[in-house]
Amino acid sequence: PDTLMPHLETESAPALSPTSLPPAYTRPIPALLDEAVRLHGDRPAMHFLGRRYTYRELGTLVDRAAAGFARQGVTKGVRVGLCLPNVPAFVICYFAALKAGGTVVNFNPLYAPRELQHQVEDSGISLMVTTDLAAIYPKVAAQLGHGNLKRLVVCPMAEMLPPLKGLLFPLLKRRDLARVPRDARHIPFRQLIRTAGEVPSAPIDPMTDLASLQYTGGTTGLSKGAMLTHANIVANAEQIFQRLPDPEIGGERVLAVLPLFHVFGMTVAMNLAVRIAAEIILVPRFDIAGMIKVIERQKPTLFPGVPTLYTAINRALEERPADLSSLRCCISGGAPLPGEVRRRFEALSGCRLSEGYGLSESSPVVCCNPFDGSARDGSIGTPLANTHVEFRDLTDPTRVCEPHENGELCVRGPQVMQGYWSRPDETSETFIDGALRTGDVGYVDEDGFCFIVDRIKDMILCSGYNVYPRVIEEALYQHPAVAEAVVIGVPDAYRGSAPKAFVVLKTPLDAPEDALHGFLKEYLSPIEMPKQIQICESLPKTSVGKLSKKDLVEGERLRAEAA
Ligand code: AMP
Repeated sequence: PDTLMPHLETESAPALSPTSLPPAYTRPIPALLDEAVRLHGDRPAMHFLGRRYTYRELGTLVDRAAAGFARQGVTKGVRVGLCLPNVPAFVICYFAALKAGGTVVNFNPLYAPRELQHQVEDSGISLMVTTDLAAIYPKVAAQLGHGNLKRLVVCPMAEMLPPLKGLLFPLLKRRDLARVPRDARHIPFRQLIRTAGEVPSAPIDPMTDLASLQYTGGTTGLSKGAMLTHANIVANAEQIFQRLPDPEIGGERVLAVLPLFHVFGMTVAMNLAVRIAAEIILVPRFDIAGMIKVIERQKPTLFPGVPTLYTAINRALEERPADLSSLRCCISGGAPLPGEVRRRFEALSGCRLSEGYGLSESSPVVCCNPFDGSARDGSIGTPLANTHVEFRDLTDPTRVCEPHENGELCVRGPQVMQGYWSRPDETSETFIDGALRTGDVGYVDEDGFCFIVDRIKDMILCSGYNVYPRVIEEALYQHPAVAEAVVIGVPDAYRGSAPKAFVVLKTPLDAPEDALHGFLKEYLSPIEMPKQIQICESLPKTSVGKLSKKDLVEGERLRAEAA
């Protein structure tokens, strides 16, 4: 297959054996931070609600925390959980746990207790870092004793704020904070970083040592931990770095509004940021007005986001203009970026917005559009350096498709995971001829630009035809009154399944269902026409901000049962 589609090997030939990878791809993650501290120690590393940390300060805190983790028994192979919003302790503990030789397991602080427990038990973490927020601490503490989890490191919110805010916070927010007992199972963050101690020098093998178990795929059944090595993540940061337009090392500011526990935030807003000694502007909670204020005041230059974030910014800017001129480079990923949303954002902000594509299993970025103006509408761009993408026949995956023919996107590259944690069967099902099967349907054009049509599991089998909800969503976005749209398949007595659309309007429409049906006739074949269009106030979103089909499918199932 490598020779069948040579046009897909961009920037250099696919180099998959460690010896042929550029040395910069195969460093341990803490080496990125050590280099930033050495060369740019005085530059700002993090900004959090008015408090700044330089790279030198961050480096010192990481070394102290690494020594603290080592005292707590963290060494090679030990899994450490992080259950935190975007706060300085996240960045500190992430690099520190890795420096001590450990593997980080990211937890979404919004998880329901059942999901937390599954991930605690499945990953076998023995230590978890969390905070004293009442919305997070109690459910994390309830996990003590499950699996191997024996101790918590607790980082009080007040200690991360600027001094005055830190004093006022516990007074003003008393009800938002939990009481944390003082016992041997609770290690205050202050104690973790108390003594400098010996910085552990765990000999990390970047090619085989796991940096992160990144849990994914919870939509159908239990989530699985994608095993990402140090080299997987460093390579991806390096590959994305190669795509950035003239990055100024030590001079960029990255807006970290994507959660750092999500693979996209972890790699781009944290590892890539540290790789280029950028300032990480930590936004702990998403609220659109607050975020626009942060952009105006802190003047980020790089902004990785999911499409719904750019949609939210567009709507806010249409109501009240704001100065976003500091932004130089915005990358959308994680879900399809409607062309309309991209054009609107570029017009309103004056900044180029490039669509990329990736998944947890590939650390995550696989493809990205160039920033030089050659981006293609609706395309996820071209494969990153050293990345080989091919599309395989949906019914016979041993056959690689021709250009413009739909198939399953399969990828090889230094960013591709080692497999799923303790799930050999699922791991072998996920690889074919050494390539990762992504579960996404798409095609490549004659110039090597890739396109995603939809996810295999979202495809609707309608009267025997494959209907791709994304085609219908894209058509809906063309309507000037549509703010957001999601299409799912619902049971249909005649056709098996049929598409149903959920739409949020930005301006009111008379008889909106009829108006939209009339509009869609221009764009869709009769088989693709939604059987129903439901107008909604808002649409469910995942923790990272992707529109969530799972909740809508579940809602429809319950409705059908009740009827
Ligand atoms: P995650 O479970 O968060 O790792 O999400 C990965 C999935 O997000 C991919 O398998 C795709 O289905 C989807 N995805 C990511 N980027 C894009 C994109 N640019 N266009 C369409 N789908 C995307």
